[in-house]
Amino acid sequence: MSISIPFDNSYTRLPSQLFRRHLPTPVPTPRLIEFNQALAQDLGIKNTSQDIELANIFGGNTMPDGADPIAQLYAGHQFGHWNPQLGDGRAIMLGEVVGPLGRRDIQLKGSGPTPYSRNGDGRAWLGPVLREYVVSEAMHALGIPTTRALAAVETGQPVQREKAFPGAVITRVAASHIRVGTFQIMAARQDLDGLKALYDHAVARHYPQANDPLAFLEAVIEAQAQLIVKWLSVGFIHGVMNTDNCTISGETIDYGPCAFMDNFHPMTVFSSIDRTGRYAYGSQPDIIVWNMAQLATSLIPLMPDTDQAVADFTKAVHAMPDRIQDLWLETFAAKIGIDDPQPEDAALINSLLKLMSDQNADFTNTFFDLSQGNARDQFTDRASYDAWHKGWKTRLNSNGNAEKIMQSVNPWIIPRNHQVESMIQSAVDGDYAPFHRLNAALKSPFAKREEDQDLSHPPLENERVLATFCGT
Ligand code: AMP
Ligand code: MG
Repeated sequence: MSISIPFDNSYTRLPSQLFRRHLPTPVPTPRLIEFNQALAQDLGIKNTSQDIELANIFGGNTMPDGADPIAQLYAGHQFGHWNPQLGDGRAIMLGEVVGPLGRRDIQLKGSGPTPYSRNGDGRAWLGPVLREYVVSEAMHALGIPTTRALAAVETGQPVQREKAFPGAVITRVAASHIRVGTFQIMAARQDLDGLKALYDHAVARHYPQANDPLAFLEAVIEAQAQLIVKWLSVGFIHGVMNTDNCTISGETIDYGPCAFMDNFHPMTVFSSIDRTGRYAYGSQPDIIVWNMAQLATSLIPLMPDTDQAVADFTKAVHAMPDRIQDLWLETFAAKIGIDDPQPEDAALINSLLKLMSDQNADFTNTFFDLSQGNARDQFTDRASYDAWHKGWKTRLNSNGNAEKIMQSVNPWIIPRNHQVESMIQSAVDGDYAPFHRLNAALKSPFAKREEDQDLSHPPLENERVLATFCGT
């Protein structure tokens, strides 16, 4: 085999109740759609394989040397409701690599049923696989912590959803796949040995400086606060912020019905299953606090004095909204060119956001245009914008750095939902050119380029995608 993956599978050395050894189910005719050679290099993978070899490996037909495939166990609160057992129902981790990026999990998703599949088929169809590939790589290019995409393979086997779709497998790379829900299941089962082993593993892997569960909780809270504010800063809506889709590492994970907002409105939702707007754009900062409270609860059995633990953990969780607010102010101030944010700048930012939501201004284009000097064209009531603009200029005063600051944080293009949907439709029809083009363009989201002008356009009324289905 002409691929060498430097595996070192530390998770399989944890207590066996945390996972099950399980092989991917072979697929009939795997065909490579994409292999992320640059990422492979960063992982320390040596590859001179033909596409067909890569398709067999990343389609789940051939196991590379050193792999020790497992499905991981976890539980979670889904839309607030406790589900006592979930786990990798259609994902199989091949193992961990240690390379220039540090330790990373390599996981196939869509690779067949596992002991945790419940009634699912263990498969994924092409649409969600391509969506995850494009959006996760775009998030990385935007500087947002995220799982990465190493490969996408068509399986040659149809997958039955609302109708039959082409099947596919995505290979996902993560700092780890440990979720809030992984801690929850050990705590709920009162499995103190499992919980302790998981905790030690997670500390060593992600927060080696944390010397007790409180410090660990605070580190996860900080990582998640930073992550959620980064999502807000680019108009990203995750769509399913269940505790099983919330990582300990602070990386974005599980790109299901996710999407970027076009016109700004804080209550924007795309997921067709999110009927109450629990996971709307503007609710994400509240939901993450709720998720961190669930993590805190799961860590309590690790503490010698329960009452003291409850008091300390409660304090840590209650401090999170203020921390998010501080990060939000810092981040959105930079979006309007301010690098010394003051509390009163919040009003200036919020009045811009209010104008944007009242006038359906495009989120990305408004901030990008500001970084070019003026966003007037994004507004219908120009007088109201002009008044804001005047106040803004006064605040910036003689800050000569403003444009530079804004240009480093306000992207020109993002993976717009209508473009992602139309890319998926083309691929289903056999044309992968839009997939390759989107991927290539989104590697450089900040630089304006003539040939990619169309990618900066918001959807026309008839192109607008109203819901993204979870039928993944
Ligand atoms: P998700 O909504 O993708 O975060 O998945 C929630 C849970 O459902 C996880 O335990 C998944 O492994 C499981 N799941 C989702 N889709 C499937 C499928 N097609 N087959 C088996 N399990 C699935
Ligand atoms: Mg999930």
